[in-house]
Amino acid sequence: MKTVSKLPDVGTTIFSVMSNMASEYDAINLSQGYPDFDVPAVLAERLNHYTLSGYNQYPPMHGVAYLREQIVQKVENLYAVSADVNSEITITSGATEALFVAIHTLVGNGDEIIVFDPAFDSYDPAIKLAGGRAIHIPLSSSSFSIDWERVSEAITPRTRAIIINSPHNPTGSVISSTDLDELAKLACAKDVAVISDEVYEHMVFDGQQHHTIASHPGLRDRSFVISSFGKTYHATGWKVGYCIAAPALTVEFRKVHQFVTFTTHTPTQWAIADYMDHHPEHHEGLPAFYQAKRDPFAKMLAKIGFELVPSKGTYFQLATYDALSDLSDLAFVAQLTQKARVAAIPVSVFYEVPPEMRLIRFCFAKEYETLLEAARRLESHFS
Ligand code: PMP
Ligand code: GLN
Repeated sequence: MKTVSKLPDVGTTIFSVMSNMASEYDAINLSQGYPDFDVPAVLAERLNHYTLSGYNQYPPMHGVAYLREQIVQKVENLYAVSADVNSEITITSGATEALFVAIHTLVGNGDEIIVFDPAFDSYDPAIKLAGGRAIHIPLSSSSFSIDWERVSEAITPRTRAIIINSPHNPTGSVISSTDLDELAKLACAKDVAVISDEVYEHMVFDGQQHHTIASHPGLRDRSFVISSFGKTYHATGWKVGYCIAAPALTVEFRKVHQFVTFTTHTPTQWAIADYMDHHPEHHEGLPAFYQAKRDPFAKMLAKIGFELVPSKGTYFQLATYDALSDLSDLAFVAQLTQKARVAAIPVSVFYEVPPEMRLIRFCFAKEYETLLEAARRLESHFS
């Protein structure tokens, strides 16, 4: 049968490509973002408990009430944001599903969504599959911040939404409260929605605060605020996330969600809710936990000759390597993986038009010993 591709320009994601290469060459995998340490033991025990106690059939389409209640509590305590447990919160199968559903809720044929490059790789294909077009605007090459004038110029009558990602993957930049004001001004004036990808909300460093879109009065009612438990609980394979949105947006979001996955794995929702209820200290401790990995790892990389972009949030460290190689980022990460046996992500794949600057991304969500061994391998490769 003749097949017609809906995504002719799309191959296998860079995360799968690099993880496969890492495994083929027995490299330390600092490419795809996931921890090499386990979920908290109590959380694993809770999952076991709920599975063995019969919590195994369809939960409500929009998610287990206990988990939605915990999310309401968390955003209230952390951000002073109030959200209605029944009409504003939907549990999804990872943030990936929430992003896909939010995009499909908003976009029809010929509609446009503004994304910032380097952009997480699921945005553009999801927009295309909805019949729309992503309008790519590069972040500034010095601080990876948003040029709001360019955004204003890029908005057309077809613009349905702007996708914001803070803390930002892959750069580690974070948006400021001034950014929120600028975004609100534009979004309100031009009547566009905001899809806010906040999956790294609990990984913000150096005493800074995460600025959730939900806390801005001008943005609250026109935004889909999306997060993921995968990052927060060291459980990227559990694929549970959520979306907070005003009731009118949530009604439309759920119309799509119910026909994408309908609902999300039941015992995992109960286990996370139970853990959130009894261990709020977990997410409170994450900035210090990850900063204690970021700092020594950055030192090790700098000593080898990488130049580092300050990581203000996420568990990623961006680096340039002009002192070490002339190769393109794609060739350089292949060399690192195959010869030094340390895998990283080439950042050019996240751009519509790759920048002059050659950048690679390391994931530091690893045990100290893993980071140390990776640095040893890199050091001996370049010495
Ligand atoms: N957005 C960003 C920026 C991410 O880094 C990730 C991580 N995979 C996701 C969305 C998807 O999250 P999930 O694994 O919960 O689908
Ligand atoms: N978010 C992870 C990363 O940026 C990977 C996501 C995925 O593999 N799809 O590395």
